[in-house]
Amino acid sequence: MLDPKFSTYSNKAAKAMDDAINAPLARHTTLKIGGEADRLCQPHTKDELVELIDGLNTKGEPWFILGGGSNLLVSSEGFRGTVIRTTNLLEITNPEPGVLVASAGARLPHIAKFAASLGLSGLEFAVGIPGTVGGGVIMNCGAHGSSMSNIFVSALVFDTTTNELKTMSKDDLAFEYRRCRLDPAKHVVVEARFKMEQGAREDIERKTKENEEYRFRTQPIGTPNAGSTFKNPDPQRTAGFLLDKAGAKQLQEGQAGVSSLHANFVVNLGGATSNQVTTLLRRMQDRVHEEFDVHLSPEWKILGHFTDSEKEVWKKS
Ligand SMILES: Cc1cc2nc3c(=O)[nH]c(=O)nc-3n(C[C@H](O)[C@H](O)[C@H](O)COP(=O)(O)OP(=O)(O)OC[C@H]3O[C@@H](n4cnc5c(N)ncnc54)[C@H](O)[C@@H]3O)c2cc1C
Repeated sequence: MLDPKFSTYSNKAAKAMDDAINAPLARHTTLKIGGEADRLCQPHTKDELVELIDGLNTKGEPWFILGGGSNLLVSSEGFRGTVIRTTNLLEITNPEPGVLVASAGARLPHIAKFAASLGLSGLEFAVGIPGTVGGGVIMNCGAHGSSMSNIFVSALVFDTTTNELKTMSKDDLAFEYRRCRLDPAKHVVVEARFKMEQGAREDIERKTKENEEYRFRTQPIGTPNAGSTFKNPDPQRTAGFLLDKAGAKQLQEGQAGVSSLHANFVVNLGGATSNQVTTLLRRMQDRVHEEFDVHLSPEWKILGHFTDSEKEVWKKS
């Protein structure tokens, strides 16, 4: 039974979606941190997704769009509003040679392996990135010398400022390193279209597997984390290199620690809080600033309540 305070959208849509009240978000983030959301909705179709957001907007209720939760720090105090998780929107199609169209919640490792099985080259880089297509576009995620922007053609976006579904091109999105022009508070990626090169299937599958295995060797895959914590300040000096040289691998704050395998990975050693993580991030920034006079900016997004002092970590410098 739905809580009556959440009466925004039609009964038909409510029944079709997985709805939960007071839903612990730690279950839906790779860091395994996050208090409860007032409500969690997991639409099964694009229409349900759009109808839900439209309804919440009309009522002025706060909402947040969540993909794989793999680039996100959620407050241990949770989020007062509705979290809309896209991971039931899984469709991937190959409508014409060299083209893949994927729904927002399709997992990047899945689409990378699907592309490889069709002999399509371009997504090999994404096999070890545990996010979704929507989160991948927003973050312009990348690895192994490539990124989303290299294969992106267009996205179907629900623009909540005008209440319209529109197709946006690569130029519209103006991709940069780990960002694009879309604001997830206003623009929801519903699906994306990618163009890839046809190649030899065996070679593409081998490269994809190599990239996957490289991850297992170099990243703390078995311990909850959210990937790279800070952006690289420049291509020559990665955040991981600077953190390692500054001795950050020794740092621990409560149950949040820096991975001994990769200095730019923060791991949840079991029961870490968002406050412990932000304190650790500040100490990592301070170490690199003292050693190299370089300010590191977090790659992660945040959700929920953070104090002004915690939010300082996300300030430019
Ligand atoms: C082990 C590990 C390895 C990683 N390796 C890499 C790597 O090599 N390269 C890299 O770039 N990243 C990496 N990441 C980080 C992360 O996987 C990527 O940033 C990914 O693109 C995030 O996708 P997501 O679906 O999990 O987004 P989330 O964490 O769920 O959300 C991130 C942001 O995107 C927004 N968002 C999500 N879906 C939508 C949508 N449909 N429409 C609008 N906004 C949306 C959210 O509101 C939020 O602001 C790694 C993470 C982990 C845990």
